[in-house]
This record gives sequence, C-alpha cells and structure tokens, in this order.
Amino acid sequence: MRRPFIAGNWKMNMDRASAIELAAGVAKATADLEDVDVAVCPPSIYLDAVVSATKGSEVGVGGQNMYHEPKGAFTGEISSAMLLDIGCQYVILGHSERRHIFGETDADINKKVKVALEVGLTPIVCVGETLPERESGETLNVIRTQFDGSLAGLSDDDMKKIVIAYEPVWAIGTGKTATPQQAEEVHLDLRKIMESCYNSEIAESVRIQYGGSVKPDNAAELLGQPNIDGALVGGASLKVDDFMGIIAGAK
Ligand code: PEP
Repeated sequence: MRRPFIAGNWKMNMDRASAIELAAGVAKATADLEDVDVAVCPPSIYLDAVVSATKGSEVGVGGQNMYHEPKGAFTGEISSAMLLDIGCQYVILGHSERRHIFGETDADINKKVKVALEVGLTPIVCVGETLPERESGETLNVIRTQFDGSLAGLSDDDMKKIVIAYEPVWAIGTGKTATPQQAEEVHLDLRKIMESCYNSEIAESVRIQYGGSVKPDNAAELLGQPNIDGALVGGASLKVDDFMGIIAGAK
C-alpha cells in the first residue's frame, strides 16, 4: 500500500515572515493528520526558517533544486549536503521550470539524483510533456526518455527511495488540469516502465505524484485514481486552506 504524499512547491514566492507563517500554519493544520506524508519546499533562502517553523511537526521540508557537485567554486549554487545539513528530507529535481527555463537536461538531473540519494535526501523527480508533444501523440515516448535519462544507472535500492512527479508542462500554473484519465494513463505507463526496468515490487512501491493545477476541488478525483499517489502542488500550496483542501483529498 503506497502512502499518499502531498508536497508544496512554493517556487520563488513569499517573504521571510509569510514563509514562516505558512509553514507554521501547515504544521498546525496537519497536527492530527494520519496516513498522509506532507512536505513544503520553500525558496532555499527560507529553508532554515521553515525548518524551524515546522520543527516537531510531521511536515517535511524540501529544496527546490541543488547542484550535483559537493562543494567548491560554483557561485550561487547549493549542494545536497547543505540541504541535508539545514534539515531537509526532500529535494525536487528536474522540475519543468528547471528543464525549460534553465535548460537542465536529463543527464544533469541524473547526476543530481545520484548525489541526493548518496547523502540520504529523497529526490522528487519530475517528468512531463509539453503541449505540442501531447498533441503530436508523443507523451509516452517523452516520459520514457525522461525516465531513462533522469534515472539512469540507479540500483534497485536507489529506485525504491525515489518519488516521481508526473507534471504535464501544459498544466503547470495554467489552471488547465490533466483529466484524471489522462494522468492515470501516464502513471500506469510509468509503473509498467518500472516493472520492465526493475521488477514488480519496485513498480508497485514507488510513489508517483501528479502535478499541474491541483486544487482543492479537483484533488479528490485525481488522487482517487489507482496509480496516483499524491500531488506536487504549486499555486495552491501558498495558502494553508487550499493546501489542506488538497491534503483532505488524499485521505
Ligand atoms: C508545480 O510547480 O510543480 C505545479 C504543479 O504548479 P501548479 O500547481 O501551480 O500548477
């Protein structure tokens, strides 16, 4: 049985005070929550404050990105060890904004995934097709290519520690959500890929989140699909009530 996992990607939003308020609000609102994992991923500059604000709660904290090198002359970057040191359990890797705005490739993401696993962070690895790719019938090929490239060379044990987020690029921040059937089709396909590359135990145990304009009013139907195990939430994770509405849909 896969435990639902709802993560909030705050992207480049909030100031320090509002980050602390939101983190504390989520921690309080989830105090009696059972059977759902919850995490928030603030901008890296607020990670320390958010780790403090969620201390003692069930809310995990994640970075939105990291660099694959352990340390050195990489101005502006942060390492996996730094994320761990500050109190993170998770890191989002290969988000479509990293892929499309900052030009990250599957090979770049693969290096980061391996380094994150080495230090004990749980990578949330994002895959997803653009609108032209979907319209030209390429969705499953794109997902397969991203899976093979981003997760290349992982052992069975490593693979078990991964969370995958299927995020169709055309649904991120646009208000357009994949239908539950469209999302389920890709999630099922990802499970089949894992079964063919690894085994059925891994295919059945790895959690696959859906992301793309998830809101309180569409969460339950999406999360009710047999192969959708949670959500990676952007805009709706910036308000406690909306985020809690989505978490309620996972129960
Ligand atoms: C995201 O940033 O991963 C995301 C899914 O954003 P939104 O929920 O705003 O579409």
